[in-house]
Order: sequence, then C-alpha cells, then structure tokens
Amino acid sequence: MTLLDKQTLNKVKTLCKTTCCNYIDGKCALTDSTCDYFTKAGDNVSCDWFEQCVLQNDTELKKAYEERHGISYTETGIGKYSRICKACSNHFKTDTKNKLTCSNECRKELRKQTNSAYYLRQS
Ligand SMILES: [Zn+2]
Repeated sequence: MTLLDKQTLNKVKTLCKTTCCNYIDGKCALTDSTCDYFTKAGDNVSCDWFEQCVLQNDTELKKAYEERHGISYTETGIGKYSRICKACSNHFKTDTKNKLTCSNECRKELRKQTNSAYYLRQS
C-alpha cells in the first residue's frame, strides 16, 4: 500500500526541486544520498525536513499530503456525510455519498457477510 498517490507525489517532487534547500541535483544534502521522495519508496516515506520546512510553502499540497499520511484530520475538509458503518456500527464521516463502511477492512467484512448471506439463501 502506498500513502501518496502519483499526482501528490509528483507535486511533492516538484516542491522538492523548487523549494527544498537540501535538494541538490536529486540528492539530499543532509543524507548525501538520493532524495527520499525520488527513491522507489518515495510514495511511502516521510522526510521530517520536508514536512516541517518545505511543505509549509504549499498549503494545498500540505493538506493533501497530510491527509494521505494521516498526519492531520480536518473535520471541515473531509466528511460531508455522517454514516454508521454497516460492518462494525461505528460512526464515521465520508465525502462519498454511497459509502457503507468506515474502512477497507470493514468493506471486506461486509462483502463477506453479504456473500455468505447470499449463499445461505441459495442453499
Ligand atoms: Zn467499520
């Protein structure tokens, strides 16, 4: 599983190139190796320097990045609809109108339940 989607990662990379003072020709001046975000694991890493100093320059990207990384959860930005999870009965908020479950695990769980219910009716 990756934290950042391609679009967000690309923006992160661009911001590294243009704004990060440690970014020199694809390398990080702090670690003297390839900038974390430009490695294969780039969509899963978090660079403290980037998050604290570089990311602050781009409010929009910051929001997307932090949501992806689960750093901040903004009530206003996410969750227009209040729902009760069909699998675990927890309350959750979502932007997707027809979302039934609070997490991927619950989605799978619900699918299992509906599948077995279906098969029970069949037999
Ligand atoms: Zn749930």
